[in-house]
Amino acid sequence: MNIPSKFDTIVVGAGPAGCASAYLLAKAGFKVLVLERGRGVGSKELWGGKAYAQPLRDVWPELDKEAPIHRWVSKERFSLVWGERALTIEYKLGRKVAFTTYLTELVNWMARKAENAGALIVDEVRVEEIVVKDGKVLGVKSGDDIVYADAVIDAEGVNRLLLEKLGLVDKLSPDHVALGVKEVLSLDPKLIEERFMLNRNEGLAWFVAGDITLGLPGGGFIYTMRDSISIGLVLPIGPAARAAEKGLLKEHVSSLVEAFRLHPYFRSFWREADVIEYGGRMTIEAGLKLMPRKLYMNGLLVVGDAAGFLVNTGYTIRGVDTAVISGKLAAEALIDAFNNGGPTEENLKSYEEKVKKSYIYSELKNHSGIGDVMSDPFFFQKIPQVAVKAASKLFEADYEEPKLIRSFLNAAKEENISLLKTIYKLGRVAGKL
Ligand SMILES: Cc1cc2nc3c(=O)[nH]c(=O)nc-3n(C[C@H](O)[C@H](O)[C@H](O)COP(=O)(O)OP(=O)(O)OC[C@H]3O[C@@H](n4cnc5c(N)ncnc54)[C@H](O)[C@@H]3O)c2cc1C
Repeated sequence: MNIPSKFDTIVVGAGPAGCASAYLLAKAGFKVLVLERGRGVGSKELWGGKAYAQPLRDVWPELDKEAPIHRWVSKERFSLVWGERALTIEYKLGRKVAFTTYLTELVNWMARKAENAGALIVDEVRVEEIVVKDGKVLGVKSGDDIVYADAVIDAEGVNRLLLEKLGLVDKLSPDHVALGVKEVLSLDPKLIEERFMLNRNEGLAWFVAGDITLGLPGGGFIYTMRDSISIGLVLPIGPAARAAEKGLLKEHVSSLVEAFRLHPYFRSFWREADVIEYGGRMTIEAGLKLMPRKLYMNGLLVVGDAAGFLVNTGYTIRGVDTAVISGKLAAEALIDAFNNGGPTEENLKSYEEKVKKSYIYSELKNHSGIGDVMSDPFFFQKIPQVAVKAASKLFEADYEEPKLIRSFLNAAKEENISLLKTIYKLGRVAGKL
């Protein structure tokens, strides 16, 4: 590495969390180095999805004018599918809360902001170790090189190999993570707007559950971008692995995504579109359970996915905005520490306190039981089956006009689920959703 050997702060990882910290620290006049293992910032990021704007505006007030915003989400759609049948509800939003984007483009924009503020970003450098001596973080090691800094921000994302080496977290288990697989389909913007019934620049976020995951926990997503559509599946790895062991999941996950793309209900939305990209990546499932034993030590702060700060509500994923908020809180705590004697353990304690008072922590706590839902096939198999069957009884009757409640009760009976069991299961999760 042909770079100076001492910095105020080294940030490991140029994701949203690392870029937010680096930007704010560099803007405050500190000497910041960001090390990114990917070839080019954003090359390890996967998705086209939805990012909540306000937490990002709190760091970059110019977001709306400058960021790579594809479309402002004006519609949220939710479908339960079974076979060729689907039951869909849609909500039309009244204001601009979130936008669709490709994360690779968004982090490139964030990294440029950090560079313009004075941070040095070096890619293709994988940090192998956070160097600690006598309980104090001294810098980072890559190959034979050590780069020194008064503080290190660990923004390495979901894998957390560096934190594992420091003993701050345990090894990830399959029940802590999910696999996201996506395809990008290129399509003329006018066709996107016509088919999804959107005005110009408006976007749609669509969550799908049911047999597109073979009834396994997880679901599908569809996001409309400027001139493309991002589709894919997210499958919690624990339940999928257990299903594979029992022979219930024989397909490769890429075949499931292909079947989703070719599904008779959905395929007309992207007729004539070309698949221009595909990929897979791991994401956090377990939220609070993944929080490191401590978010700080003498000279170290942990931010973003590495700290378990992804809020998965079951119908939406908020990881970018929570990463940016934690990056901001870490930068603020570090600036305070630099101004008050240095980044000692005592001075960095305020970061954990700030996190615990922030919306990240309260949201993680609010949704801490969501794991029970996400690993229970009942919600992904029986509920979509019964809902779709009940709808078919209501809308596919040749002669008699069935009653609403009776249709659901009959569908539940045919699927062998008792009303009591359903009420019990729904009751258990009611407070968690
Ligand atoms: C399929 C999928 C869909 C998603 N959808 C959404 C969505 O719609 N909305 C949303 O808000 N969130 C979504 N998320 C979650 C969101 O992407 C993450 O929560 C967010 O990116 C976390 O930011 P981060 O900066 O903590 O980590 P990351 O974005 O993972 O960044 C970490 C960076 O560190 C680098 N790195 C790792 N180890 C090292 C090392 N040793 N040395 C140097 N560099 C290293 C990585 O290459 C990476 O660039 C989704 C995630 C997935 C996988």
